Amino acid sequence: MNYIIFDLEWNQGVSHGEKRDKKMPLEIVEIGAVKLNEDREMISEFSELIKPQIYHEMHNITRKIIHIQMEELEKGKPFEEVMPAFLDWCGDDSLFCTWGALDLLELQRNMAYYGMPPLSDRPIKFYDIQKLFSFAYEDGKSRRALEYAIDLLDIKKDIPFHRAFSDAYYTAKVFDKIEDPAVLERFSFDIYTPPESREKEIEVIFSDYAKVITRTFEDKKSLMSAKDVCQPVCYRCRRRLARRSKWFTPNGKHYYSVGYCFKHGFMKSKLRIKRAENGMTFAVITHKFISKDDRKLLIEWRDEILKKKAVKV
Ligand SMILES: [Zn+2]
Repeated sequence: MNYIIFDLEWNQGVSHGEKRDKKMPLEIVEIGAVKLNEDREMISEFSELIKPQIYHEMHNITRKIIHIQMEELEKGKPFEEVMPAFLDWCGDDSLFCTWGALDLLELQRNMAYYGMPPLSDRPIKFYDIQKLFSFAYEDGKSRRALEYAIDLLDIKKDIPFHRAFSDAYYTAKVFDKIEDPAVLERFSFDIYTPPESREKEIEVIFSDYAKVITRTFEDKKSLMSAKDVCQPVCYRCRRRLARRSKWFTPNGKHYYSVGYCFKHGFMKSKLRIKRAENGMTFAVITHKFISKDDRKLLIEWRDEILKKKAVKV
């Protein structure tokens, strides 16, 4: 298996000039990538400028970040030509890696705009190196700029930043420094194409939590009333949870519940409602074991929320 570390540069409509196209607010103007083998050695490079077809004026933000002139871009190749070449270069057995979680999403949006077949019929497993860096060197929550990581790890800056290829190249250099297996187990999932059936659902058990990406439903009500969704089991032993609280929500988007497994203790579940591009509803659920004290705090918080709601009615 190879690692494909890629980076995109994109442009957007200038607010007072070109109207933003809702289907594709961000137009990819450059793809840069490096291919690493299993030992994370660089074995190949990819770099293409893409000729703009929607936004022909350079947005200020883009100009500041990427230092490419529109005249230069106009000499690029059209997306419909670059994308198949990129996928061909990636090969079949590869894992995408990016700095941050946005590139894979924007890549698929651009592909859909041009009517290309989707990359996958389900969520795509990938490495968000920005996240791995945070787990390896910081608190797991921070999200740093690539250059910050390069400085912290004392990586030689031998090519300029902020072009797609160089950012992919430096991301690969950061990736190469991360060796802790507990960090490397932290795969991400791109949810541009959520599971359409139960068979395609994602369930991953990490050392300290579990993650589920449910199939899509017509609406939130049918999602929340599906038995496997509304009655989670212990992810370690599959036992039914006792003393399970009903789902409660502070905002209608995030739902919480806590139950008890006789073998493994209190399991807290957090459910995030997501909307697919086709309008269907699905959820990303995380399960985590918590202490008795944390369970008490959670229940107190729930009671506060319920009290506030009662007052409102
Ligand atoms: Zn259990």
